Amino acid sequence: MTDLHALDIYLDELLTPARFMDYAPNGLQVEGRAQVARIVGGVTASLALIEAAVAAHADAIVVHHGWFWKNEDMRVRGMKRARLALLLEHEISLLAYHLPLDAHPDVGNNVQLARVLGLRITGSIDTGVQPSLLLRGETPSRFTPEDFAAHIAVRLGRAALHIAGGPDRIATVAWCTGAGQDYIEIAARSGVDAFISGEISERTTHIAREAGIHYYAAGHHATERYGVQALGARIAQRFNIDFSFVDVENPA
Ligand SMILES: [Zn+2]
Repeated sequence: MTDLHALDIYLDELLTPARFMDYAPNGLQVEGRAQVARIVGGVTASLALIEAAVAAHADAIVVHHGWFWKNEDMRVRGMKRARLALLLEHEISLLAYHLPLDAHPDVGNNVQLARVLGLRITGSIDTGVQPSLLLRGETPSRFTPEDFAAHIAVRLGRAALHIAGGPDRIATVAWCTGAGQDYIEIAARSGVDAFISGEISERTTHIAREAGIHYYAAGHHATERYGVQALGARIAQRFNIDFSFVDVENPA
């Protein structure tokens, strides 16, 4: 058990959101009850996740994709009203960490994806933004492009969309979880054999072929499941509270 204020401060110190220019507010987005004994974690603060938190009698929800994104309609209507009403009715807090949870050197999505895929991190690639969200490393073996696709599929439990454009063997790779597909040119210029992200755009196919790099679209949701789980384990240990990750299935 901890109080919400202490949890908020702890996560702020761990994830240092002030270092990031982000698209949504990081930290406590909706305030629920003052004491927190049980937390549900998920990738996105969808209605399904809130329903799962209600069923689990959670006091707080921790997510990667929260609410109040720049350029979204600020009015509390329809879908947004339904989500917010359910959260407030049950006095459940919502804490969200976007870029700080992508970039964290231990519990971050990028580092955690490397762990899941068995990639050895050798550094980051400068994207002009600090801290960089583009990591580079080495694959656990010199895969053929097809075998690397199969490896990703096994580890993530989901087929990756592979666009062939690079060499016959994949030894070096760059990655950015989520919607990082537009880092592909920077990744290609850095000389790696392959680039992994979550989503794909129409243009990504042509860039992969013309820049000479393999591209693997491994799923926005699938690549961003691991940061919040690692964060939850940290919180559970630090405060001796119950954390459970709810995987709201999402093929995108
Ligand atoms: Zn994301």
